[in-house]
Amino acid sequence: MAKQTQSFNAEIKQLLDLMIHSLYSHKEIFLRELLSNGSDAIDKLKFESLTKPELVPAGHEYQIRLEADKATKTLKIMDTGIGMSKDEVVEYIGTIARSGTKKFAQINEEIKKRPDLIGQFGVGFYSAFMVADKVTLHTQKAGSNNGVIWESSGDGTYSIDEVPRPNGTGTTITLHLKSFADDEEVQDFTDSWVLKSLVKKYSDFIAYPIMMLGEKPEAKEGEAATEAKDETLNSQKALWLKSASEVTPEEYNEFYKHLTHDWNDPIKHVHYKAEGTLEFHSLLYVPGKKPWNYNTKENEYGLSLFVKRVFIMANCKDLLPTYLRFVKGMVDSSDLSLNVSREILQQDRQVTQIRKNVVNKVLSMLKDLLTKDRSAYENFWSEFGPTLKEGVPTDSGNKEKIQDLLLFHTTSSDKMTTLEEYVGRMKESQKDIFFITGDNLAQVTNSPYLEKLKQKSYEVLLLVDPVDEWVTESLRDYKDKKLQSITKSGLELDTAEEKQQNEEEKKKSEEKFKPLLETLKKSLENEVKDIVISDRLTETPVCLVSADNDPSAHMQKILSQMGNEYKASSKRILEINPQHPLFERMLGLSATEQAKWGEILYGQALLTEGSVLPDPVKFSRQVADLMIAASQKAH
Ligand code: ADP
Repeated sequence: MAKQTQSFNAEIKQLLDLMIHSLYSHKEIFLRELLSNGSDAIDKLKFESLTKPELVPAGHEYQIRLEADKATKTLKIMDTGIGMSKDEVVEYIGTIARSGTKKFAQINEEIKKRPDLIGQFGVGFYSAFMVADKVTLHTQKAGSNNGVIWESSGDGTYSIDEVPRPNGTGTTITLHLKSFADDEEVQDFTDSWVLKSLVKKYSDFIAYPIMMLGEKPEAKEGEAATEAKDETLNSQKALWLKSASEVTPEEYNEFYKHLTHDWNDPIKHVHYKAEGTLEFHSLLYVPGKKPWNYNTKENEYGLSLFVKRVFIMANCKDLLPTYLRFVKGMVDSSDLSLNVSREILQQDRQVTQIRKNVVNKVLSMLKDLLTKDRSAYENFWSEFGPTLKEGVPTDSGNKEKIQDLLLFHTTSSDKMTTLEEYVGRMKESQKDIFFITGDNLAQVTNSPYLEKLKQKSYEVLLLVDPVDEWVTESLRDYKDKKLQSITKSGLELDTAEEKQQNEEEKKKSEEKFKPLLETLKKSLENEVKDIVISDRLTETPVCLVSADNDPSAHMQKILSQMGNEYKASSKRILEINPQHPLFERMLGLSATEQAKWGEILYGQALLTEGSVLPDPVKFSRQVADLMIAASQKAH
C-alpha cells in the first residue's frame, strides 16, 4: 500500500487545536496517558492469550520501554501490547468514535475557559500534541505480520502507511518534542531524571515493567567502556494489594486516573479486602464530575475486573447496579476463574455476592461523606444525586440506606436537606412529610398549593428531577411518617381541634355553595371528576388535585413527553377556595353565566399548575369577553 494522507474529522481538528495551543499547565501528564494506553494494550494481549496462546510469540516480554534522544529531541514510548490493525488506527486515532456529537463545539468553548476539563473526553492519545509538534505511531497487531505507521503534525491531516514494525507485535509512539525554550515551567522530557520521576509520580503501580536504558557509565582509565544498563522505573506493585497505610492520597488519585482516563481527582475512595467465604480486593472511587457523555448511550460504566491480579475486563457491569453507575474502580477476585466470559459473569453466584458487597461499601462510603464533609457531599449530589435516587425504586433491599442519602430542596431554606433533618424540624402538629413535584424550582416555589402550608409554617420538599415521580411512588413513608404530595387529595393540614372548629364553617359554605357546585359540576363533567370546597387554598381561587392513587399532573406531563399515549383517563378534582370573593359574586349570576365562568376557572387551575390549556384560543376569547362585560358594567 502506498502512503496515504487523510484528513481528521472536524471534531478531532478542533481537539488537536486545543491540545496544541493548550493552556493546560500540566503538560507532563501526556506521559501518564501514553503509559496507561501501553499498559491497557498489554492487558488486552495478556487476556486474549489466555484463549489464543498463539498470539504471543515465543520469548515475548510484556513491558513498556522509554527511549529518549537529546540530540534529535525525540522521546519514544514502546509497548509490547496488542497493537492495532489499520482499521483500528483509523477508527481510534483518526476519529472520535466515542463522541460523535454535535455538542462538541459547545464543549470546545467550555474547555477554552477551563482547560482542566480537557481530560474528560477520553482523548489521552492526543495529549501527545501538548508537547510534540509531530507524532509518529508505529503499531503491529498481535497475530499480524504487517504494521501500520500513522503520522501527524496536528495540522488537520495525518498520513498512514503499511510497514512491518521492527519489534513485531506492539506499539511505538515517537514524539518529536516542541521546544519550550521560553517556558521555564516545562521540563526537558528527554532528561532521564525527569522521566524517572514522572514515572514514579504517575505510573508506579503499572503492572508491567517500564524500562529505560540508563546513562552510560563513564569508562574508568585503562578499562573498556561498559554498556549502559536497563533500568526498571516502576515498582509494579499492584496498589490494591498494599495496605491502605502504605498508599498516599496522591497515589490513590493517580491510580484512579489510570483506570478511568479522567484527568480530575475523585471526591472519595474506599479500599478494602473482603475475607471469608469470598475473597477479593477492591478499590472504589466516586468521581468529582460527570463524564460529559454521562447521559448518553456511549457512557460505559462498570468496574474493572481482575482475577488473581490478571486484568480480565474494563467496565464490568455485573459488579454494579445501574443506580451506582457513576462509581469507578476495580475488583480483584481470587475465586473466579481466569476464563470467565461476560456471559458467565451474568449468572455467576460469586459475582452476585461481590456486587452486593460492593453496593454496601459504596453506600457506607457515601454515608460517611455525607456526615463528615457536607459540602463535598452536596457537590457529589449535584452531579450524581438523580442517579443515586433510582436506587429507591430499584433496590428494595437497600432502600432504607439509600433514603438516608437523599438530599432535597425545601421551602424552609436555600440549603438542601435530608429526610432525617426534615423530620427533626417537623412541627408538633404536623403529621406527614409534605412534598411537591414539578419541572423547576421557580415553578414549584410559587405554587398555590403551598399557600396554606406557608400559613401554617409547614416545610415542603421541592422535587424537580424527572426521576422524582418514580422515586416518590416507592418512597411512601420515612420513619413512620407518610410522604404526602400536596397536590393530591388526602392532604390533611388541620389538627383534630382545628377541624372541629372549622367544621361548622365548612358545613355552612358547603350549604351555601351547593347549587353553584352542582352547576359547575354539570358544565365541567367531561373535565373533572369532582368539585369540592378546598382546604389548602388561602389566596388563589381554584386548583386541581389528583386522587391519592392517581398520577400527579407532573407525572402525566412526563409520561406524555416520553411519548406514552397517556390520555388522562383518571380525571382530576377541582377545588374551590370558599374564602375567595369571586365565589360570593358568582352566586348572583345566572346558571349560564356560572357555567361560563366555571370554564375559565378550570383554565386558570390548569395554568397555575403548569399544565397546557386544551384550547388556549377559546380561553383567551372567554377572558376578553369577561373584560368587555366588566367594562360595560363599570360605565
Ligand atoms: P482512551 O485511552 O481514553 O480510550 P485514547 O485516545 O488514549 O483514548 O486512545 C484511543 C484508543 O486507541 C484506545 O482505546 C485504544 O483502543 C487505542 N490505543 C491507544 N494507544 C494504544 C496502544 N499503545 N496500543 C494499542 N491500542 C492503543
